[in-house]
Amino acid sequence: MDEKKRIDGAEPSAESAGIDEVEKLYDELEKQTLHDNPNLNRARLRSAFEYARKKHEKQVRKDGSPYITHPLAAAMACTQMGLDEDSIIACLLHDTIEDTDATHEEVAKLFGSQVADIVEGVTKLTRVVYTTKEEAQMENLRKMLLAMSKDIRVILIKIADRLHNMHTMNFQSEAKRREKALETMEIYAPLAHRLGMQRVKWELEDLSLIYLDPIGYQEIVVQLDARMEQLSDFMDNIQERIKHRMEVSGIRCEVYGRLKHIYSIYRKMVNQNKKFDEVLDLCAFRVVVDTIPDCYNVLGHIHDLFNPIPGRFKDYIATPKPNMYQSIHTSVIGTEGIPFEVQIRTAEMHHTAEYGVAAHWKYKDGIAGAADEEKFEWIRSLLEAQQDTEAPEFISELKVDMFSDEVFVFTPKGDVINLPAGATPIDFAYSIHSQVGNHMTGAKVNGRIVSFDRVLDNGDIVEVSTSPTAKGPARDWISMAKSSAARAKIRQWFKKEKREENIIRGRSAMEAALKHSGIHADTLNDPEIMTPVLKKLAVTGMDDLFASVGYGGMTTVRALNRIKEEVAKVQKQEKALQPEDLLKKPPVTEKGVDGILVGDLDNCLVKFSRCCTPVPGDTVVGFITKGFGVSVHRQSCSNYRKATEADKAAGRWVPVRWGDTGARQYTAALTITAEARPNLIVDIVTALNADKIGVTSLNIREMPDGGALAFLSVLVRDSEALNAAMRHLRGIRSVRDVQRPGTEAELPEKKGV
Ligand code: MN
Repeated sequence: MDEKKRIDGAEPSAESAGIDEVEKLYDELEKQTLHDNPNLNRARLRSAFEYARKKHEKQVRKDGSPYITHPLAAAMACTQMGLDEDSIIACLLHDTIEDTDATHEEVAKLFGSQVADIVEGVTKLTRVVYTTKEEAQMENLRKMLLAMSKDIRVILIKIADRLHNMHTMNFQSEAKRREKALETMEIYAPLAHRLGMQRVKWELEDLSLIYLDPIGYQEIVVQLDARMEQLSDFMDNIQERIKHRMEVSGIRCEVYGRLKHIYSIYRKMVNQNKKFDEVLDLCAFRVVVDTIPDCYNVLGHIHDLFNPIPGRFKDYIATPKPNMYQSIHTSVIGTEGIPFEVQIRTAEMHHTAEYGVAAHWKYKDGIAGAADEEKFEWIRSLLEAQQDTEAPEFISELKVDMFSDEVFVFTPKGDVINLPAGATPIDFAYSIHSQVGNHMTGAKVNGRIVSFDRVLDNGDIVEVSTSPTAKGPARDWISMAKSSAARAKIRQWFKKEKREENIIRGRSAMEAALKHSGIHADTLNDPEIMTPVLKKLAVTGMDDLFASVGYGGMTTVRALNRIKEEVAKVQKQEKALQPEDLLKKPPVTEKGVDGILVGDLDNCLVKFSRCCTPVPGDTVVGFITKGFGVSVHRQSCSNYRKATEADKAAGRWVPVRWGDTGARQYTAALTITAEARPNLIVDIVTALNADKIGVTSLNIREMPDGGALAFLSVLVRDSEALNAAMRHLRGIRSVRDVQRPGTEAELPEKKGV
């Protein structure tokens, strides 16, 4: 019941906030900060407060209260987000560089350069002016703010700043209120969402709505108030029933009920053209448990207690949202006929869902302490993955500082164009259209003529001039362009316009490359070598190969490597791998041998293959991998079946057997094919529950033919338990088949090794 409180317009007026009031606010801030961070340097916090108070001494807020009340309130919000000491200090100072005579230098001297940089970052963001645009442009603006922030704490402080300003809007003019509210709705609430900060996002949305549609907001508040008693009873009742069931089933959990936030009700009314009375699901519940298998167990129980609404089940545990959000969502109907949503998650997921990126600081000593890679992966994925599609390669390719690898510039019309850092007017022109690039004759940045290799900065206004008679790009444009898209377009132009020239350039480049690596240039005329090379490179003839090397579509290195391979093959130099070498020093592992004995070696690193997920009782074989010890497969695994006789003879496949597996649980993969129907997933979970089998992941996919394909991982002690569970699963209505993937089913397992 902790979330029933709503935001009722603005906070109580701070009109009377005198010296005592300010001291009181500071005491609260210190107390709260100390509570979360016992190592807080109190003197440092105090002196930041004193400094800011002195600087803002002569300023008052619109409501007449001392200006310092604003940074104090914003800093309080930062503390509640769990930010580190530097952030809270920077937040106290966040308006000093913008609004007083304080300088970066002075702040750096007093509080360190980190703090000064953050304050300056916030100042820069404050100076960006927005105009409302279509959604794609808003998205670029949001990204621009993130890119300009350089340190994610800058944007978090900016959000805290906005939060307090939205709370104290009463004294602003009507026009100002609407402007700020719109900006908050379009920029800051989505940013908070992107950063995974659910709580702040809701608050910003509700505060914005007060000014964007005061009548609509008030209507919902009044209606909710009128029903408060009834809703309260309903929530208590549902909560009790869930709690009771969990107690009986021995699942440790916390159950929370809450009213949906006002903007989400509002949006539903507008989007679905409904009256308030027609919005039925006003409440949501949350069950927070200890482990992931518990999440699925709870799901089974919820669906047993209440009727699930078909099509409303979402598994964000198996497939997390781009902002790292994880939970199981399901909508059900209680006995009263009122639908409600239940979210099921672990405590850790809950923390991430509430605080998002800010949760990161709870466990890390500020951004400098966090491992770089981890830090960027996490933030990068927030920014990049717009859809639920994953792009891991893309992400790992960009393991540079995420805040310095993009630049955002304006067109003369004010549209934002997103380019890689280091981009030049050439990139800009080609990003507009390849014809603009190909016909470019000049470029201006912020109204001044610049050379084509001028590096663009965030916020630059870029303009290019074109002429229909332009003679096209020059070769050195390729090295001046930073984006691969622009380079590709320039190469494309050369490819089309200059084939003859490209063939000559390409041939001489290849000849030089061969010579350099000690291979005779005549090799290029040797069909025994070149025929397979051309095939592997997917080009149709030598001229094509030279032409594509000539215009830069293929690197000489790539072509050369293929040639080297063929030359080596012809010379038959391949040396067989010596298995003894690999077994000599298995890498150290904490996991030990996991119940597997490899010949008479003890302490050999063992891993269980993911292709066939062996469990005790299965006949198993081991494969000596390069660097990861022995990977254990089932003998019926198709990878083993497909293994060549040569590999078997070379001793890479070795006999292994199960040792004492104790109470250890093993992961086994299962695939279930069935006819799609409501509640299928619940029945699956329930059947496994009954067998006391834990589910670690579950993914269900509907097929075009009306079938459903489920992939799941379960924890079992051995094959006997697994077989029993599979029999039960096969007995579920509409299930066609249950298989363990990775094996060729028609081949019976051979006994003994
Ligand atoms: Mn401010």
